[in-house]
Amino acid sequence: MRYISTRGGMAPQAFSDILLGGLAPDGGLSIPESYPQFDLEALTELAKLNYRDLALEIVSRFVDDIPHADLKALIDKTYTPAVYCNGRSKAQSEHITPLIKLDGTLFVQELSNGPTLAFKDMAMQLLGNLFEYVLTARGEQVNIVGATSGDTGSAAEYAMRGKQGVNVFMLSPYGKMSPFQRAQMFSLQDENIHNLSVKGFFDACQDIVKAVNNDAEFKAKYKIGAVNSINWGRIVAQVVYYFKGYFAAAKTVGDPVDFAVPSGNFGNICAGHIARQMGLPIRRLVVATNENDVLDEFFKTGGYHPRGVDKTYETSSPSMDISKASNLERFVFDLIGRDSAKLAELWRSVEQGQGFKLSAEDFARLHDDYGFRSEASNHADRIASIREVFEKYGVQIDPHTADGFKAAKAHRDPAVTMVIMETALPAKFEDTMKEALKINPFRPAGLAGLEALPQRFDVLEADAEAIKAYLRERIAV
Ligand SMILES: *Cc1c(COP(=O)(O)O)cnc(C)c1O
Repeated sequence: MRYISTRGGMAPQAFSDILLGGLAPDGGLSIPESYPQFDLEALTELAKLNYRDLALEIVSRFVDDIPHADLKALIDKTYTPAVYCNGRSKAQSEHITPLIKLDGTLFVQELSNGPTLAFKDMAMQLLGNLFEYVLTARGEQVNIVGATSGDTGSAAEYAMRGKQGVNVFMLSPYGKMSPFQRAQMFSLQDENIHNLSVKGFFDACQDIVKAVNNDAEFKAKYKIGAVNSINWGRIVAQVVYYFKGYFAAAKTVGDPVDFAVPSGNFGNICAGHIARQMGLPIRRLVVATNENDVLDEFFKTGGYHPRGVDKTYETSSPSMDISKASNLERFVFDLIGRDSAKLAELWRSVEQGQGFKLSAEDFARLHDDYGFRSEASNHADRIASIREVFEKYGVQIDPHTADGFKAAKAHRDPAVTMVIMETALPAKFEDTMKEALKINPFRPAGLAGLEALPQRFDVLEADAEAIKAYLRERIAV
């Protein structure tokens, strides 16, 4: 399996090479030359496997430069109940991503039982082990510099803590994260994890990360890397739980199943699209957005018009407050028949701030051939959904999963099984949960008292030069 760029300007590469890189040299995203295929007979065999063995069967089709036994060891170490034990029920943790049944054909798939209580752990934990393996084999190091408003940063830190060859420098806005999020990140005492609390907003943190990366000399000398949502390793790891969820929900292998996915950067649902292209009988993929509805607009009109950060609203499902969906480029590449010249032209107009509109034929295929639907929610919808799910089914869902619930309801066919992807545990969003349910959400036992642990972070000015000086002092070259 080799990888090319969506924009056509990269010689085919092996998995380990693109794993550590960010954008392809031509500004595109890496994507496999073709998708591995599973027919009904092969799927029936996969359905018998536990999460680890299933992950090995799927991930190994995308990786041909890591020996099978080594890949197996990395996957076994990643997907163990000991890591995914923060869910509602310890007894279920062997399933890693267990299903909760709401009614006869409506399910929630728990993806948030990892260390930071968000689905990002599912992929990031594997990435941490893959990075360590590849860097150790090559005798290299990487210094991950990122910006976070909460979820991504903590998932990256918990995945990379204590890993050989990896340092993490995570910028977050000083005083702007919830006490829980702050405690999650800042209580890590590992020497390779550095929390930089920046006096400014999230945008300022992001601008500084961009400035560091735009300094090519600095970037090369200090081996600056990233683990953002375009990372291919993250997408591959996410493909696995669609198979797992499908097998758990379908009465018979071959039956159609729909998935509803709370979306921001289009990483999670892009993995669903890939699973579908591999032969998994997914019927519909329902994109759920909040008030930041650039994706809902795309799937309803065929027009993709990313908005500026100044037009991004702060909402009560904050991890979906995104005005530009980086991974959409991978899906559109497939949709337009993998025509990289055409793709490059479309994204040139995105980068110039104009966006684009699909042709009528491509727009029709998006629904008919690729199964996409979409729905947007607002704060009142989230509160109503959280209440409805709790009152009807006795299940607490977080505000992001609530966006998924509304989208699932809007596109549900009672004859077809629907799985809503749970992207975070309610414990991360106490204020909204209390507003909806008047009670505190359940918190996993191991995290009681989290906020009282000693915290380790440095406060810095929102100035790229100050951050570079901080990095120079701490990175041995
Ligand atoms: C990151 C995140 C999302 C959005 O996922 P994408 O892969 O960016 O579409 C949704 N919900 C939560 C809780 C998240 O952390």
